[in-house]
Amino acid sequence: MLSKDLINEINEQIKYEFFSSHLYLAMAAYSAENDLPGFENWFLVQAEEERFHAMKFYNFLNEKGERVIIKGFETPENHYNSLKEVFEKSLEHEKFVTSRIYKLMDIAQGEREYSTISMLNWFIDEQVEEESSFGYILAQLKRMGENSDGIYRLDQELSQRVFTPPTEK
Ligand code: MG
Repeated sequence: MLSKDLINEINEQIKYEFFSSHLYLAMAAYSAENDLPGFENWFLVQAEEERFHAMKFYNFLNEKGERVIIKGFETPENHYNSLKEVFEKSLEHEKFVTSRIYKLMDIAQGEREYSTISMLNWFIDEQVEEESSFGYILAQLKRMGENSDGIYRLDQELSQRVFTPPTEK
């Protein structure tokens, strides 16, 4: 049995993961509008990953015999002035998600809730990868500035990304 506090915070996290999926769909749409199919693909894959994250928390609560509550959220930002802004905002958002995972871990450790701690360890590792991949693209964009050849090459690179759900739960 999980504490009320932990159940509430995990349900909040399900909301944030679905919100992340929506935010990255909005960023995919911005990329499509700007004729950047590689960036669009990269964000579509990211949106799928976020849905997978939400479902991982959903499955965890169900397996623990606790009640999942699906919540609504605000409209994500759809308008951006540049790709650089898109990646500044998304990296900022990932840092917020990391702080949320840390908050969940603090609660689980305080309660010595070992099954939750074990589940959250996966997310802590995942957030390192997320911040790194968003940070890598932002660094590339900053380096190339307005260089359209560079942006074209990066778009080609990002078109290669495919969604592969991890095999372990
Ligand atoms: Mg996530």
